Amino acid sequence: MEHGSEQLHRLAEGEALDRAGYLEMIRNRENLREEAASLACAVRRRFYGDRIYIRGLIEFTNYCRNNCYYCGIRGGNPHADRYRLTEEEILSCTDAGWELGFRTFVLQGGEDPFYTAEKLATIVRGIKERHPDCAVTLSFGEHSRQDYALWREAGADRYLLRHESINPVHYASLHPEGMSHENRLRCLRDLKELGYQVGAGFMVGSPGQTEEDLAEELCFLRDFRPEMVGIGPFVPHKDTVYAEEPAGTSELTTFLLSLIRLTLPSVLLPATTALGTIDPEGREKGILAGANVLMPNLSPVNVREKYLLYDHKICTGEEAARCIACLKERIRITGCEIVTDRGDHRASE
Ligand code: SF4
Repeated sequence: MEHGSEQLHRLAEGEALDRAGYLEMIRNRENLREEAASLACAVRRRFYGDRIYIRGLIEFTNYCRNNCYYCGIRGGNPHADRYRLTEEEILSCTDAGWELGFRTFVLQGGEDPFYTAEKLATIVRGIKERHPDCAVTLSFGEHSRQDYALWREAGADRYLLRHESINPVHYASLHPEGMSHENRLRCLRDLKELGYQVGAGFMVGSPGQTEEDLAEELCFLRDFRPEMVGIGPFVPHKDTVYAEEPAGTSELTTFLLSLIRLTLPSVLLPATTALGTIDPEGREKGILAGANVLMPNLSPVNVREKYLLYDHKICTGEEAARCIACLKERIRITGCEIVTDRGDHRASE
């Protein structure tokens, strides 16, 4: 029997694994990949069938007060061409998305103080008034519990906040002083307590990340039980100190997607744009490894080139309608099907 195979089957049967178990599987991933993907897809089918949910991504500002070392739009990058969408522009993106069948909108931005808590609450209310049946997801970084509560009351349903590393030393190597691992985790806990469906996550292959770190990540997810998990390969950006670092691989990312699906059977799990960036078939491979969400871009085409957290991002020139047509075809080949309902998280059995 392959090393790690026993752990893989125990995981698929719903047993909680420890760090050593995850590590053994990660180390022998080459030999376990196919089996892990097939077990993960069987588990996904149990909860969601072959339905793949789409979320309309609106990147509303690329200003950011932070300086994460890996990020192309960090506040300290003088080469980033900055933009903000107005409230009207954001609402018109959601109107166009609604017509295309989107029932979830993800408002993503750098931590831009221009959007005060009240301003963002007004935008959330505006979206909910126009499209009462949609889900609104925010992805706007670290804020006070009070601000999160205000947005929740305004109608926000979900919040994505990648924690990036559960290892405080590794976290500190990716972020400048002043950004704290502790505060990131405080935010995640607050969001959960406030009733958001919460998304955590990390980059795969970020500089300095070890296989042991990845095993820890899986243990953290096992215990924290987020409703969504966003992982994508690290992709370097030319204006960062990590410009020359190698990108993460689609092999490791898709294997981790399978392990996450098996650890949290009903999790909402995107096959990310970063995965499609490092591998032309990355998103299809992600779906075949157990993912069940795609997040096409609904931002106006004239700002898409400016929201570059990493280099060579795909789909920056396509109109949303064309993106959907392309994704539908790609997903059909995997045997799954894109659907347009809200795709809420389903509680595990
Ligand atoms: S990763 Fe997010 S918080 Fe960090 S600098 Fe980039 S946009 Fe800002």
